[in-house]
Amino acid sequence: MNALQIVTRKIEPIVEVQTKVIDHMTRYMVGKGFKWMLPVMLSSITDPLWPDPAAEDALKPPEVEVYGSRLRLTHSMILHKQIAVGMGIDRLFILSPNIRLERGSADDGRHAYEFTQLDFEIAGASMDDVMGLIEGLISGLFKEARDWGLEREVPKVRPPFKRFTLEEIKEEFGSEDEASRLMKEPFWVTDIEREFYDREDPERPGHFRNYDLYLPEGYGEVSSGGEREWEYEVIVRKMKKAGIGLDAFRPYLEVARAGLLRPSAGAGIGVERLVRYMVGAKHIAEVQPFPRVPGIPAVI
Ligand code: ATP
Ligand code: ASP
Ligand code: MG
Repeated sequence: MNALQIVTRKIEPIVEVQTKVIDHMTRYMVGKGFKWMLPVMLSSITDPLWPDPAAEDALKPPEVEVYGSRLRLTHSMILHKQIAVGMGIDRLFILSPNIRLERGSADDGRHAYEFTQLDFEIAGASMDDVMGLIEGLISGLFKEARDWGLEREVPKVRPPFKRFTLEEIKEEFGSEDEASRLMKEPFWVTDIEREFYDREDPERPGHFRNYDLYLPEGYGEVSSGGEREWEYEVIVRKMKKAGIGLDAFRPYLEVARAGLLRPSAGAGIGVERLVRYMVGAKHIAEVQPFPRVPGIPAVI
């Protein structure tokens, strides 16, 4: 696509849907007593995004030299969310812009290298609390969207959504993406071994108190979250086991060592992925006024 093709695309109706989606989500969160924080885009720490067996290889966040310090562009605000809970902000959300220079993910239709999450965290919450909150948000959104005159039909859905462990998904469908292709309604995948900050079940080591929400019709993952680790020793043990350098997380670890992280749970919902589903777009780039497709040079 060249600059003129980008400008003459029929994008306005999609931005209209996006406005309604963001309006619904932010109203829902504010109505539930969440504080709306503004994003952090440059920081000394960000989400390592690994180890995650689903990731192709370790991602290094782009860095910028700012006033003599090297700052990283935000992969996600997960660590800032935990620290904000430590500040006493018990229920928070952010429309958080994320930059992820992922390789080899242009073809599945759901990856952009610049996107936005509705990212939230709740002090003292359990995975059931967060899953229930997201189910309320999604089922309310789908209901409201029936009056929007969308060109496609979104299903009528009622909580609770179906839950599978990752092991069950693999046994029954082969993969999460295959399950997404076959399912007619959103569904959960739980118990996924990944980044250090997602909580390992203390009563069932090797199992994890985290969850992903998948959309049907092959649209794939739209949300990820988990209960969190907050104890310094546990965090350090998991980082070392993963081969993560502690140096890159120094201020986070300082806060953890001082006992200032608190138990919490949260999740992030991909805004463009949700809008892509609502309008039935083939590729996420179709809902981005300024497309950011991995592997393809950006024009504007
Ligand atoms: P995937 O497995 O599809 O690559 P992920 O598990 O790496 O996604 P997370 O780290 O869980 O992604 O990010 C939280 C949420 O942010 C995702 O559930 C998704 O909605 C959104 N997201 C993540 N990566 C992208 C991307 N490259 N483009 C658009 N949205 C994304
Ligand atoms: N937003 C995700 C979470 O809350 C983290 C991520 O984006 O990687 O777990
Ligand atoms: Mg995920």
